[in-house]
Amino acid sequence: MKIAFIGLGNMGSGMAANLVKNGHEVAAFDLSADALETAQANGIATYGTVREAVEGMDAVVSMLPNGDIVKSVYTGSVIGHAPRSAVLIDCSTIDVETCRTVIAKATDAGHDMVDAPVSGGIAAANGGTLTFMVGGTQEACERARPVLEAMGKAVIRAGDAGAGQAAKICNNMLLGIQMIGTCEAFKLAERLGLDAQNFYDIASVSSGQCWSMTSYCPVPGVGPQSPSDNDYDGGFATNLMLKDLRLAMAAAKSAESATPMGERAKELFEDHDADGNGGKDFSSIIRRL
Ligand code: NAD
Repeated sequence: MKIAFIGLGNMGSGMAANLVKNGHEVAAFDLSADALETAQANGIATYGTVREAVEGMDAVVSMLPNGDIVKSVYTGSVIGHAPRSAVLIDCSTIDVETCRTVIAKATDAGHDMVDAPVSGGIAAANGGTLTFMVGGTQEACERARPVLEAMGKAVIRAGDAGAGQAAKICNNMLLGIQMIGTCEAFKLAERLGLDAQNFYDIASVSSGQCWSMTSYCPVPGVGPQSPSDNDYDGGFATNLMLKDLRLAMAAAKSAESATPMGERAKELFEDHDADGNGGKDFSSIIRRL
């Protein structure tokens, strides 16, 4: 397929390279000259504008920082410029409302469009092992599937337009809360005189078991290799967790859903970010407990 890729940052760069590896012809645009240079080295044709990149394409994929940018790129340069037959796939993490507005505009213009945010970080983007949570009509999701499968290990339809974003922020709200709970449990165990490894051995086969403990333990030297073993560098940055918790709280407000633990998790990550830990892995929040 001929695929345009917009947004070649930490995530998009590896995702676009995986499309090439899977035999697709990729045309790309990014505001950053460095990103375009890396893309060229990965066999991607680069263009000076979004409009040029999307011309004559079968699909358009985007991986951009936020909803305002997604809206301006799609309404200004993709819708009405990509062929009407092109399937449009936004993989960015953005708010549900903006997502639905953009998809409605694309649908009015005759496109199939889905939201397809991801679970998995830069390593999964580079390795082609992302999980995509997809929102859109059944038909649009099936058209997007082969493109997404070239970049990930799982493609799951969550429902209609915006449902992918909804699934993503609910999952990440749970992750943020769960990580803080795991950190609190290990700190309390320490104060009560328990050995961290011993507590891990017990809790990881007991009812407190969870991903934040057994796959991503916030205590260095305990459990499988994780960012805590690398001074909390790499992994999933505090500022990205905070972005997702803010999106989740905005969605909870508009849906009038009670999320007291999500709210508290957002406040704690806000404090952690304000203290200069935005670039550190989110499990580093254990240091402030
Ligand atoms: P990033 O900042 O590294 O990349 C964004 C890219 O978009 C940059 O290269 C930037 O130059 C480009 N860009 C910005 N405005 C543009 C425009 N108008 N036209 C074209 N290009 C433009 O961000 P990232 O870490 O790659 O994240 C991208 C998205 O993926 C975000 O929505 C983020 O929340 C989500 N996400 C990130 C991770 C992660 O671990 N980094 C994990 C899951 C989801």
